[in-house]
Amino acid sequence: MCVYCKNKEYQSSTRTHTVTINSNVIVVLNVPCMMCSCCGESFYTDEVAEKLDGIIQKAKEMLSSVNIIDYKNIA
Ligand SMILES: [Zn+2]
Repeated sequence: MCVYCKNKEYQSSTRTHTVTINSNVIVVLNVPCMMCSCCGESFYTDEVAEKLDGIIQKAKEMLSSVNIIDYKNIA
């Protein structure tokens, strides 16, 4: 259920996930998510959230100032 508008319908979609760590930016493209069909708010499933954590951890170890990662190439 959408925490914002309580709507129960979702569409699967993809989004760009951006994290800033210190002054470094990590951008993960094409992250699968569920998008609320009412307000457009998006959510990750537990599986995707976990995988995303792993990707971010790995990216942190090899940080340059801007890191762009395509989820599709890693998942
Ligand atoms: Zn909603």
